[in-house]
Amino acid sequence: MIKENIEIVQKNIEEACKRAGRDRSEVTLIAVSKTKPVSDLREAMDAGMTVFGENKVQEIREKTEEIKGVDFHMIGHLQANKVKYLPGKVVMIHSVDNVKLAQEIEKQFAKADIKIDVLIEVNMAAEDTKFGLSPEEAPSFVSEISLLPHLNIRGLMTIAPYTDDPESNRVYFKGLRELKDKINAMNIPGVNMDTLSMGMTGDYEVAIEEGATFVRVGTGIFGERNYNTKI
Ligand SMILES: *Cc1c(COP(=O)(O)O)cnc(C)c1O
Repeated sequence: MIKENIEIVQKNIEEACKRAGRDRSEVTLIAVSKTKPVSDLREAMDAGMTVFGENKVQEIREKTEEIKGVDFHMIGHLQANKVKYLPGKVVMIHSVDNVKLAQEIEKQFAKADIKIDVLIEVNMAAEDTKFGLSPEEAPSFVSEISLLPHLNIRGLMTIAPYTDDPESNRVYFKGLRELKDKINAMNIPGVNMDTLSMGMTGDYEVAIEEGATFVRVGTGIFGERNYNTKI
């Protein structure tokens, strides 16, 4: 089942790239494996997946003990007091949205002598159920944290609203791309963002058409999860 799902998602990604005139290599599929057992991750690895997304530090700690040779990305809301568990476990943090968190990432990754790729989470639709900075706050936030030497600010991430109509999220994906371009045009020393993490099971094809470089697909690969929580 997982293998077949991955084949379908890969084909959809290819077609979305074609429609947008983009090279398939510009888009990385992140298999969002939160709540799923390691046996499911192994099945996905057998089908070629090499990048996994998780949203709980405890789950990352457990899964990285058992699963080797792949990359884990922290895609969920992150509390500063849990950052200390992440050096050496994840290669990217998608959810930086406050200075205290950025400073703690700096502290813990400096201690481990690792420079970590990070994305700034932006709440494009201003939903109060979601974390992230407003598009207005993002540029000054990026300049504020740009001097932290162990953070490599690679780009922006957004979680678009849950919807049955992916077209309705196009405006947010386009907005995130424009925000990235705007921040790059500010020429903040050390900041040249090339990454857009946007698009989930319901809307990743539209996100690719609007410039996504990471799509985060969970349900479309592993099937439904059996819990509901704020993400
Ligand atoms: C759970 C989650 C996803 C995957 O969502 P699906 O709709 O199951 O594809 C993507 N991004 C984040 C941040 C998540 O927490």
